[in-house]
Amino acid sequence: MNYQLILDELFPPIKNAAIIGEVASYIPELAHVRPEKFGVHLCCLQGGDYFIGDHSERFSIQSISKVLSLAMAFKIEGESIWKRVGVEPSGNPFNSLIQLEYENGKPRNPLINSGALVICDILISHLDNPLEELLSFIRKISGQSSITINEKVAASEKAFGHRNAALINLMKSFGNIENDIDQVLDFYFYQCAIEMSCLELARTMLLFSNRGKILSSGEEMLTSSQTKRLNAIMQSCGFYDEAGEFTYRVGLPGKSGVGGGIVAIHPGEYSVAVWSPPLNPKGNSARGMRFLEDLTTKTGLSIF
Ligand code: GLN
Repeated sequence: MNYQLILDELFPPIKNAAIIGEVASYIPELAHVRPEKFGVHLCCLQGGDYFIGDHSERFSIQSISKVLSLAMAFKIEGESIWKRVGVEPSGNPFNSLIQLEYENGKPRNPLINSGALVICDILISHLDNPLEELLSFIRKISGQSSITINEKVAASEKAFGHRNAALINLMKSFGNIENDIDQVLDFYFYQCAIEMSCLELARTMLLFSNRGKILSSGEEMLTSSQTKRLNAIMQSCGFYDEAGEFTYRVGLPGKSGVGGGIVAIHPGEYSVAVWSPPLNPKGNSARGMRFLEDLTTKTGLSIF
């Protein structure tokens, strides 16, 4: 498969089409990003990096970070995390409160905000410095030691994080948060404010194509069973109330963030990261969805 030829063919028509969607502005710092930014990076398990556009520019990974903190919590605690958070698609927006009330403070899954907050709480209970540990985990998998946080984005989200504060207070009232609310929220805002490029994200997510092993060293970070389960959760829950649509159109497990990034994984084949900031009404990158749909259509490869 000549991936470079495919990227070179699929990218320009999307880049040249009128931009649809809106750059996220509910976190004010994210609104400063230029809407025309667009990059793709694909890492092949058989070796080889293929890329186009703004693939090496860092952006706010936002909810893509939820997969990485979940991987850490699952590695540390194993199956018992599912006592506090489920594995069902929510069918609701990522920051919805409604379901959480009638399901007694147990989030549907770890990739919506409430579920990711529970995962942050679990990591805080286990680790002295969860943020540093999460960064080390990501730096090790990606091989990029300079990956860090954008403090301005974290502060901006904290200043306007009332909905996340509502979610965590509701869960605390049901006894599903062990630690101090502000400590958990701070950790969550910081993890969402990690910045990575498409290149760095694709390298990191290659772990999930490679049964949990780092490709360059062969080191096992997750077992193949854990990796299978995490890919399954991305498939059913990675795009909130658009998870079915993403599955239908792209046919791969993946995760989006409101910074405009999307990662997708083809187990045994490749990982790919796309970045384009304008979001569709469900909060997923409009161009990113279109590009990945075209990619799996053109290659004829998906997990289905
Ligand atoms: N930090 C964002 C929030 O909590 C993450 C949401 C997202 O990327 N979908 O609202």
